[in-house]
Amino acid sequence: MNARAPKGTSDLLPETARAWEYLNRTAQGLFARYGYEPLYTPAFEHTEVFTRGIGEATDIVNKEMYTFQDRAGRSLTLRPEATASVVRSALEHGLVPRGSSTKLYYAGPMFRYERPQKGRMRQFWQIGLEVLGASEPSVDAEVIMLLWRYFEAVGIPTENMRLLLNSMGDDECRPAYRDKVAGFIRSEATGLCEECNRRLDTNPLRTFDCKNPGCISVMAAAPLLRDELCGPCAQHYSEVRTSLETVGIPYSEEPRLVRGLDYYTRTVFEVQADAGLGSQNAIGGGGRYDRLTEVLGGRPTPGLGWALGFERTLLAMRAAGAKIPAPPLADVYVARVDDTVAAEVFVATSNLRDEGIAAEMDHLRRSLKAQFKQADRLGARLVVVIGPEESALGEVTVRDMQSGEETRVRIEALTDAVRARLG
Ligand code: AMP
Repeated sequence: MNARAPKGTSDLLPETARAWEYLNRTAQGLFARYGYEPLYTPAFEHTEVFTRGIGEATDIVNKEMYTFQDRAGRSLTLRPEATASVVRSALEHGLVPRGSSTKLYYAGPMFRYERPQKGRMRQFWQIGLEVLGASEPSVDAEVIMLLWRYFEAVGIPTENMRLLLNSMGDDECRPAYRDKVAGFIRSEATGLCEECNRRLDTNPLRTFDCKNPGCISVMAAAPLLRDELCGPCAQHYSEVRTSLETVGIPYSEEPRLVRGLDYYTRTVFEVQADAGLGSQNAIGGGGRYDRLTEVLGGRPTPGLGWALGFERTLLAMRAAGAKIPAPPLADVYVARVDDTVAAEVFVATSNLRDEGIAAEMDHLRRSLKAQFKQADRLGARLVVVIGPEESALGEVTVRDMQSGEETRVRIEALTDAVRARLG
């Protein structure tokens, strides 16, 4: 038996799991200010939600999906990302009535069969959001701003991050541009890697994303969509940039940013952080996908969103020395002098917890000395000592672990005494 976690996965051990919960809490607090509601979709979907939604010619669909047949022979796939799932769910449940818009967020694990390396896992955790129904450039700016504010809120310094922005055009201007890039690639084929040659017909724009140095230098001279956007796309892009400027969100235009999925139209963006990350330096990214609802069988509904990766965000936070709050495991430790008071200790601990105070007691028959050590390890500020002598008088001793000061209090006044001392 192989009793280790599968390659590319990791257990979120308590310290990391705490960080994940902190990132979620921070997201919930921030997203609430922008009017987002939670939506949790299943971890797997019918495979065609992704093949259609993400696109047949993408790396995710071609190489990275965990696809399996269930016992009834249906083809199912563990979600490699959540946008297609959220849109599927919104269509299925009519979450976007005509003429309105809906703001949704999610958090959870995603699955991609990638070659694991630092910041690249096969099961990784994302927090993301989607806005469905809104097409104004101001919403693009709002969504991008929220990603930036989130990274600031979790303690990644602005100077460690770069926000890259581009427009991928739409059905008006992209097809002609795509053909132009395909023509360019064909004329430069000898300088490009095998893979870029292979997907020349299916997904030529992906060549902008290739990390092969030969391909990078060839693509430096490739035509740019920025120069070929149709009027409405150029206008939209310009208004997004202006809106970002009015709220002081720093961005760099990156005309070669083509995000890997087929569904993007117009605005795309990515936040990169160098400190703490290697080549996998994109901590979050997203874009607009005005055609996705139709691809998934719904009426035309504009949409946009982003996702950030937990593992990479945490690497960037750690590199910046960001603080992750770690409250003590107990504020109060209730110590037992001997077995005759076991019941009193159990009741006192339970009462404190019922009153909302983090309290702990011994379950290992430790000596009194060892109980004090344990209280220290847990970070308890107070130790309540109960012994036969105190018990006979209906009292307990409260010891302040910092000052060493000890006081006797009536057992029925314990909660108030603890509260007063914890402040
Ligand atoms: P994507 O859906 O590829 O745009 O990814 C959005 C974010 O998820 C990225 O910016 C990363 O932070 C994170 N991410 C994507 N793929 C992985 C992976 N294989 N391992 C860890 N994080 C990932």
